[in-house]
Amino acid sequence: MSHDIIIIGAGHNGLVAACYLAKAGLSTLVLERRDVVGGVAVTEEIYPGFLCSTLAHSAGPFLPIIAKDLELARHGLECTTPSVRAFSLAPDGHSLSLFNKTALTVSELERISASDAKSYPEFEASFSRIGRVLAPLLTRTPPSIDKPEPGELWNLGKLGLAFRRLGKQDAFRLLRWGPMAVADLVAEWFQTELLRATIAARGIFGTFAGPWSAGTSIGLLWQAAMDGHTTGPASFVKGGMGKLTQALAKAALAAGAQIRTSSEVERIQISAGRVCDVVLKSGEQITARAVVSNADPKTTFLRLLDPLDLDPDFLSKIRNYRAAGSAAKINLALSGLPSFEGVSGRPDANSKLSGRIHIGPDIDYLERAFDSAKYGAYSPAPYMDITIPSITDPSLAPNGAHVMSVHVQFAPYKLVHGDWNGQREEFGDAVVNALSTYAPNLKELVVYRRVITPLDLEQTYGLSGGHIFHGEQTLDQFFTFRPLIGWAQYRTPIKGLYLCGAGTHPGGGVTGGPGANAAREIIKDFKRARM
Ligand SMILES: Cc1cc2nc3c(=O)[nH]c(=O)nc-3n(C[C@H](O)[C@H](O)[C@H](O)COP(=O)(O)OP(=O)(O)OC[C@H]3O[C@@H](n4cnc5c(N)ncnc54)[C@H](O)[C@@H]3O)c2cc1C
Repeated sequence: MSHDIIIIGAGHNGLVAACYLAKAGLSTLVLERRDVVGGVAVTEEIYPGFLCSTLAHSAGPFLPIIAKDLELARHGLECTTPSVRAFSLAPDGHSLSLFNKTALTVSELERISASDAKSYPEFEASFSRIGRVLAPLLTRTPPSIDKPEPGELWNLGKLGLAFRRLGKQDAFRLLRWGPMAVADLVAEWFQTELLRATIAARGIFGTFAGPWSAGTSIGLLWQAAMDGHTTGPASFVKGGMGKLTQALAKAALAAGAQIRTSSEVERIQISAGRVCDVVLKSGEQITARAVVSNADPKTTFLRLLDPLDLDPDFLSKIRNYRAAGSAAKINLALSGLPSFEGVSGRPDANSKLSGRIHIGPDIDYLERAFDSAKYGAYSPAPYMDITIPSITDPSLAPNGAHVMSVHVQFAPYKLVHGDWNGQREEFGDAVVNALSTYAPNLKELVVYRRVITPLDLEQTYGLSGGHIFHGEQTLDQFFTFRPLIGWAQYRTPIKGLYLCGAGTHPGGGVTGGPGANAAREIIKDFKRARM
């Protein structure tokens, strides 16, 4: 049977694309290699009665316009946003909370540093103003470099106008901040190390970079474009991230798409320069007018296509596309809530722990954590981004028990000594030991521990190099450069083959942006009957 569209992969972006394409009347089949939909946005029962967002634990946030368009609330999506965005701990028991509301953060800072309390509102306000200028880019296709179309020129003109309206100071900041090392940026604004490190963390989340690496401030600008803030969002899905992708799957089915799990695509076949069908691992061959890959760029071009079907220059650029992972994940089933130094026993303890918990007390700590990865070792004192979603969503664990989701950096894909399968538990011990500095009773509470290494990210979840964002999100792999300059418009050198995953603009994170943008371009091509 032939389809208009085959989508390879039921990650959240593949599903978003499926919804829009099916709604446009195109017969759409989604093929997913795993036995569940969701890609890296999934919830799993890690231990009887304990449900955990296996990998991503807080949405990018998911773009509200897409959730509304696809009526995800009607399909079961419920989101929660605790008022604390990030809670940071220092080993000496000092702590700091950053809230969604600037005024609350300022009162918190007043007890720590009058100077930082004074600087913070202007810092956030400037990012928020710049974020408003950048935000429209999230839902737009990057313009063609060679032959911009009239609509693209119009959009660039609008962007230029918005940039001018920013005023000289913010415009100058936008141009200057992007290429800066995030450590330098935060040092210009703040004195408190814990505050500097908490904000800088957004610049290095998911990347193979430390706070002193050039260009890491781009992560803060991009976050500001998404929701006006500089720190990572505490944007949770009730029931875990898997509920978001289940809602997307329901919306796709309701729109008429078909979804097949346990259906790994082994090869995309090309005839006379255009895509003609896909061959599954089972040998089944399915034809379609267009194939849309939700797999990352390296998987798509280096594994699913015959190299002879691609231009050698393009192939060599894809080989150079940087996608060496730097993160691992540890999920814990706990018999109770750990006692964190300096916060437990306080009446607001649960509220403080309900957002993201940041471990990485100063800039040097974060840089040292990266140093290990640079030289091929995991960090014994890692940067950790932790959530305990069962505080706000008790349905995730038995009464009084909790699940803890620990995002760990740095854990390089390539280890100099040994391999990940041999070092999995040793690494897990190192992380739990490091975390016990802040939560001394943690070990007594662990009922079950699951360690997910960068190698698991590649082998089980299909992420090339174990990269959580389908490739580095640095200035050289951003916007019109994502995944490659000249190929940032979701089309590929093969006619009828498109990309729709996190390796395309606006990149990684559970936002739905790449899927929605890709679908719009594909629909345009079908309407123009270019294919
Ligand atoms: C450990 C970790 C932590 C993260 N934390 C966060 C976070 O807190 N917040 C946030 O916003 N983002 C986070 N991210 C990043 C974010 O989850 C991803 O950028 C995003 O979910 C990618 O979505 P996607 O749909 O583009 O790709 P994926 O979710 O990777 O989906 C791709 C799908 O394609 C399938 N596939 C691949 N090859 C084939 C094939 N040959 N045949 C059939 N199917 C195939 C895969 O199985 C997969 O289901 C995290 C990611 C990881 C791994």
